Amino acid sequence: MKLRTVYGPHISRCFGLSLGIDPLLIPKKCPYDCIYCPLSVKTINKTYSPKIIVTKDKILSDLRYFINSNRDVFENIEHIIVWGMGDPLLNYHTPLIVEEINKLLINENSSAKIVLRTTGYLIDEKWVYPVLENTDYIIIPIDAAGEYRQIINNPLEKLKLKQLVQKIKSIPKVLRNKFFIEINLLRYNGLRNSHPKILDEILSYVSMSGVSKILLKTINRPSWNTRIKPVKGRVFEKAREYLENNGYKVFACIEKPLKKKIIIKSDLEEAILNHLLRKPLSSEEIQRIYGLRGIITAEKLVEANLVEKINWLNKIYFRARHSLDLYNYLIETGG
Ligand code: SF4
Repeated sequence: MKLRTVYGPHISRCFGLSLGIDPLLIPKKCPYDCIYCPLSVKTINKTYSPKIIVTKDKILSDLRYFINSNRDVFENIEHIIVWGMGDPLLNYHTPLIVEEINKLLINENSSAKIVLRTTGYLIDEKWVYPVLENTDYIIIPIDAAGEYRQIINNPLEKLKLKQLVQKIKSIPKVLRNKFFIEINLLRYNGLRNSHPKILDEILSYVSMSGVSKILLKTINRPSWNTRIKPVKGRVFEKAREYLENNGYKVFACIEKPLKKKIIIKSDLEEAILNHLLRKPLSSEEIQRIYGLRGIITAEKLVEANLVEKINWLNKIYFRARHSLDLYNYLIETGG
């Protein structure tokens, strides 16, 4: 069992069948501590100081392993998503990693697009430039402004929104066209960021960034905070209309049917544990991606105390127990 930098495939509401690339690995590294963070673990030490972490060789070796074991699945991958245990730009190697993934996709004759999700605070650094050139889409979350941002994203004190939008605005327009602002709609303790007053606050900053495309989502899995709830139906639609009426191009992420059945041929236990490290998965999701054997394997991981089962909004989710036991287990068994 290895701790891999490649996880999934994941069935994403925004990007269809996608493969995750994690250039950070454990522990989580991020300048934010979002209440909806799918990593199911709080950010212990918030940081936006990049370091040399995972190398391109480790990523390429894991990617080749995935392709060689699951060629049929790889041929159907629509997006490669560079995001893992936090903000991918906290690794100085990420520009090189993205460049190499791009070359590999060309060599493999793959039409998959590369997506990178980042808080955006390092986006204007010189060393990050190859990321802008080699990705197809850059996603930057802005879920609230002012006091609500503190509740939802809980960023490092010094990271102001004004500074973020200025950094985005400084990117040449031809590259800035790749940017999307992501808004994760949610309800939490009486707060609802789909409210026009909160959307207005968000838009007052987005308008300064020069980005006109919004990726609109609602949460669909538990985070470390299980009290968060999604915004659905008419309320979601009203928020979408509101943003569109303000002149933005809104792409709503909603569940889509899988184009083709997937059969994973690599080590199932390793694949599921690596996937769960980055996102809790509902039983239905496990079954859709990994089949019935996937459910049996997930149950075994629960018995081994590496994964826990939780009930969130009347659905059963499997999620990794982010603990020293799990990390030691991954290291001892080959990570
Ligand atoms: S920015 Fe992303 S990785 Fe960081 S806490 Fe928020 S959701 Fe998690």
